[in-house]
Order: sequence, then C-alpha cells, then structure tokens
Amino acid sequence: MTTFADLQLADPLLRALAEEGYTQPTPIQEQSIPYLMAGRDLLGLAQTGTGKTAAFALPILHHIFTHKQVVPPKGARVLVLAPTRELASQIDESFKAYARHMKFTHAVIFGGVGQGRQVEAMRRGVDVLVAAPGRLLDLMGQGFINLSHLEVLVLDEADRMLDMGFVRDIRRIVAVLPKKRQTLLFSATMPPSISDLAHNLLTDPARVEITPPSSTVDRIRQAVMFVEPDKKKDALLLLLSSPKVARAVVFTLMKHEANKVTEFLNRNNVTAEAIHGNKSQGARERAMTGFRSGSVKVLVATDIAARGIDVDDVSHVFNYDLPNVPESYVHRIGRTARAGREGWAVSFCDPEQRAWLKDIERTIGKKVPVVRDHPYHSDVAENSTMRPPVLGGGGRGRGNPSGRGGGGNRPNGGRGGPPGRRRVA
Ligand code: AMP
Repeated sequence: MTTFADLQLADPLLRALAEEGYTQPTPIQEQSIPYLMAGRDLLGLAQTGTGKTAAFALPILHHIFTHKQVVPPKGARVLVLAPTRELASQIDESFKAYARHMKFTHAVIFGGVGQGRQVEAMRRGVDVLVAAPGRLLDLMGQGFINLSHLEVLVLDEADRMLDMGFVRDIRRIVAVLPKKRQTLLFSATMPPSISDLAHNLLTDPARVEITPPSSTVDRIRQAVMFVEPDKKKDALLLLLSSPKVARAVVFTLMKHEANKVTEFLNRNNVTAEAIHGNKSQGARERAMTGFRSGSVKVLVATDIAARGIDVDDVSHVFNYDLPNVPESYVHRIGRTARAGREGWAVSFCDPEQRAWLKDIERTIGKKVPVVRDHPYHSDVAENSTMRPPVLGGGGRGRGNPSGRGGGGNRPNGGRGGPPGRRRVA
C-alpha cells in the first residue's frame, strides 16, 4: 500500500494531509504524483471525485516548497485554468488547505464580480493563480497580469472548458506562456477535440487513466426500492431489523445526511457510526475498529470516506441515496461479497434520483430488480421523470457538504434548469 510519505512529498504537505484525514493516496494521486514530481507533462483522464485536485496540487506545492523563487510583479509561477468560478474557488481552497504549513501566495480570478480585488491580489505576483479563462484574458489584456515567467500550466476539466466554448481563450492564453513549462491536462472524457488540444499543448506526456469499473460482481444480489425521501429512514430501519444483516455499510450523498441517519439509527438502538470527510482521522479509525470488532453494526459513509472501508464480511450495502456517478455504485456495492462471500446491495431510489438509476443500469449493463412488496413503496418515485439535482462541486472536506452556499444539495431539483455536471459529495 503506497502512502503519501512514499510519494516523497515535503513534510509540511504530509502534515496537512494527515490533518485533512487523508490516509492513503487515491489511484489518480498514486499514479500521477511520481510523474509530476519528475517534471513530466501529464494527460489525466479522471472525473471529479477521484481526488484529481490533490493529484496536481500536491506535486505543485512540493515544487514551490523545494524550489523557492521570487515571483515578478503581476506574475505567477503556476496557472490553473478551470471552467467555472465555483471550481476555480474550490481549487484555490484545496491549495490553501494543503499549503497550510508552508509559505505560498495565491490568487483566484473569475468573472461576475468586480475586478479590483483580483487586480490587487496579482499586483505583487503569486505562486499559484487559479483562473477562469475569460476574466484572466481580460485582465491580461488590461496589463494587470503577466505570465511570461510561468513554470506550470494546469487545465482542469478541459472537456468542460471546450464545451463551454473556451477553446479560443485557452489558445490565446497559451500563446503568451513560455514554451518551456510543465503542462497538465485533466479531462473526464477524451473526444477528438481534447486529443487535439493535448497534442498541441503537451510534450511527451505521461498518460494516467482512472477507468471506472463497469461490471458488478456476480455474487452481489442487488435490489432497488422506490421510496420517498422522508420514508427512507424508516425503510432502512426495517431492512436493518432482518437477522441476515450482520454488518452493513449505508451510503449517503451528503455528509450532513450521513450524520442524521447515524443519529436516527442510534436513537433506535442500532449501533452506527458516520465516516466522512469532516471526521478526523482518529474518529474514522475508531469507527472502523468498532465496525471490524462488531461493536458497531452499521457504518454510514459518503463515497470518498468509503475508500478506507476494507472489511471482508460486510453482509449488506444500503444505498440510502443513489450515487450521482454510476461508477460509484459499482465501487459502493463492491464493499460486500468480498473474499468469496455472498452479499446484498439494496438501494433506495427517490423521485429525484430516478434518472441516476437509469444511468447506473446502463453502466452495469443490467436492470436492478425492483422490490415493491414493502410498506414504503412509492409509485411516484418509480415513474418519476424529474431532473436529478445538480450537486455542488466536491464538498472538499470543509464547511457545507455540497461545497456551495446553503441549500446546494437540491438547487435544481425538478425546475428544469440545465442538467449541469454531476459531482460527488
Ligand atoms: P476531487 O476529485 O479533486 O474533486 O476530490 C474529491 C474529494 O476527495 C475532495 O473532497 C477531496 O478533499 C477528497 N480527497 C482527495 N484526495 C483524498 C484522499 N487521498 N483521501 C481522502 N479524501 C481525498
């Protein structure tokens, strides 16, 4: 098992990661960081939720820490281009969190707000500039930013930037950057337009691809129950009362929901612990120890926290919420039926999550059998054509679990706005 220390990241970064509760690099981190530390260009095929932000932020911060440089006024050593202001702010927040034990200057730039503070932030130059392309070009055009000393360029969610029509802006920005630089391009998909861009921007890139698993283990017996959100707790309690449930993992989309479900179960005499990004490493380890020993029957987890669940005899996985990314479904249910055993995976599907079930069935290549014979069955959920909620970006382990201001978990439910991109909480 690779650790962050094995990746030879500088000590202040290791300390910050421990404080964030990251025990182990994710696959994209494990694979990308060595290339990036060696100065290679990189083409990363990975979706949000895989830990790709840290995959580039950590080696970049390591470089800043180990190769100190005076930044010229209005300059930046590193430029991260991101499609939206939300993503740009989240990336900036991630850099800040990982760099909390080292000196580093940074700025974030996007449109839709006054430019004064952004111009001021860039006046003396920064180590890391995170920017949406439109406003960046605008400020460059006005002479407030000069990227002629740039060392590293990152394009994050490149496919989305192209979808949003930023290709010309990107080309205009890249045209004024030094030719000698390290370039990283991350994209969830690889249409020809991205291959072209990669071909033009990257030099002999290392390629790292996090392929989502697409087949489910045959030994897992799957079922879906259509229920309204306000009936899920009771339905869960009913399922957990079966003597067949020895050890269960319950997945929610949001951290606050994980907490609520845990409190509800404990009030109803089911021993449960929540594990998610807001829990300290110590708390997660205590929960895991209890789960392994059997003193805790149910772990309630969000997707990211589930990475550390490594227990062989989980008899049941319950998807309290369906995941918004089909591949997460496969990961989640793979927590059961390990080591040759059988397992059950039962999912609740509410009206807003109906479309996600269809995506999941497409990904796993089969229908999940429906169980209707229970007191909480909802025809409305089964026949729902509602648009799924657009989730905030990533819930980076701090503050609001949706990663946005209040109410970010259901901002778009059923109102017919643009479908947006799905993010994992
Ligand atoms: P990203 O794919 O960059 O949007 O990251 C998704 C989420 O995973 C963020 O909330 C990160 O804080 C979290 N995360 C990233 N790396 C790790 C790790 N190694 N262990 C646990 N959580 C992580």
